[in-house]
Amino acid sequence: MNARSRRAPRRGEFDVIVVGAGAAGGALALGLARDGFNVAVVEAREPSRWRLEDEVDLRVVALAPDARDLLEDLGVWAPIAQMRASPFQRMCVWDAQAAGELRFDATERGEAALGWIIENKLIQHALWTALATRADDSPAPILHCPAEINAVEEDADGIGVTLGDGTRLRARLLVSAEGGESSLRQRLGIAFEGRDYGARAVVAHVRSERPHEGTAWQRFLPTGPLAFLPLADERSSIVWSLPEAEAARVLALDDAAFCAELGAAFDFRLGPIASVSRRAAFPLRLRLAGQFVQGRCVLVGDAAHLVHPLAGQGMNLGLRDVTCLRRVLNEARARDSDPGAWHVLRRFERERRSQTTLAARGFDAIERVFGASSRPLVALRGLALASAGRFPPLRHLLADVAAGRR
Ligand SMILES: Cc1cc2nc3c(=O)[nH]c(=O)nc-3n(C[C@H](O)[C@H](O)[C@H](O)COP(=O)(O)OP(=O)(O)OC[C@H]3O[C@@H](n4cnc5c(N)ncnc54)[C@H](O)[C@@H]3O)c2cc1C
Repeated sequence: MNARSRRAPRRGEFDVIVVGAGAAGGALALGLARDGFNVAVVEAREPSRWRLEDEVDLRVVALAPDARDLLEDLGVWAPIAQMRASPFQRMCVWDAQAAGELRFDATERGEAALGWIIENKLIQHALWTALATRADDSPAPILHCPAEINAVEEDADGIGVTLGDGTRLRARLLVSAEGGESSLRQRLGIAFEGRDYGARAVVAHVRSERPHEGTAWQRFLPTGPLAFLPLADERSSIVWSLPEAEAARVLALDDAAFCAELGAAFDFRLGPIASVSRRAAFPLRLRLAGQFVQGRCVLVGDAAHLVHPLAGQGMNLGLRDVTCLRRVLNEARARDSDPGAWHVLRRFERERRSQTTLAARGFDAIERVFGASSRPLVALRGLALASAGRFPPLRHLLADVAAGRR
């Protein structure tokens, strides 16, 4: 660590201010603090407590192996895994309108799991607990919560923010990890463009007649993809993408009718659906920020990109932003460079904006291709799934990309 970052910070003065402590902001703040940066966190709402005795929360994510590696590095993977993480060893993707299916198996890759199904709330809770109780030698992050930023002023040497209660903080770098509605992104006038899918993801936990086999299942229907993600208690967490009106209709069905329709939509792959939890729905949007960096401000996670959940990659992309920004800032510090300088941040911008744009456009293309019903396209899809399934190098490449290994 060089002299600049070792010096005791003046009161209210930091290397980095992270706004928002969801998965992306929490991981970034914790990672930078472990790396020896002086970090302040501004979070609007204290994350709700996660308790083992509570029902599994409806918002879950499929976490990829590289995201797990990051959480392990941050020291929060062990508590998450002990509490409630459900590994899956297999993945199966098929099309309702065409033959052919694509299967992935962790054993083919010599890995224990292809991913883990985890409640968003548990990830945020574990990160927040670690932030609030840091006990090693590195400087503890200063948490401001509940708090929001009222004013931002940038000059040649740094950036200052004023919180709602009048507290003033100053740093070399300001990071928005505020999620899709990032107020900092709006304050900076950064465009956030893409398209609305005119659809919602209906989520619930269901019990099927047969066990889920530790498999993440996804069936592409003309109305959108339907995923069954395996939970530790043998239920599956469903993500059922449907046009707005259809989503409203299935949400209003009674449990028996919902289970019957869901079972049919899933082609009874695990038998009839025996029971369903309460349900919720989330709007589906594609959005990409026109810039990930402006001046001394950086956007990470959903503040920078919203993607269709069909590939289960939104949070994984955000955690890849974290890994990249941490690496760039550590390299800058090794060269004694200002962490908020453009020549430092443009490396993050280049790497993450190109990779995220590629991923988001790829998921969008999959959504369009699998949503189409024209006969030649359906035939082509069947052929593509069947050949990818039969051609191991292509299958391994797809699995590597999904796992964040490429
Ligand atoms: C149906 C569905 C299924 C999904 N499935 C997957 C999946 O399988 N795999 C996957 O990787 N991703 C998945 N995602 C995406 C994933 O849930 C998100 O990408 C991820 O939760 C975003 O995390 P984040 O930390 O960037 O933002 P958020 O979780 O939105 O966190 C933002 C934080 O900032 C705080 N905040 C907001 N505004 C302010 C402010 N002005 N000042 C201070 N603090 C503020 C908030 O309180 C919050 O704590 C899915 C999404 C949906 C909708």
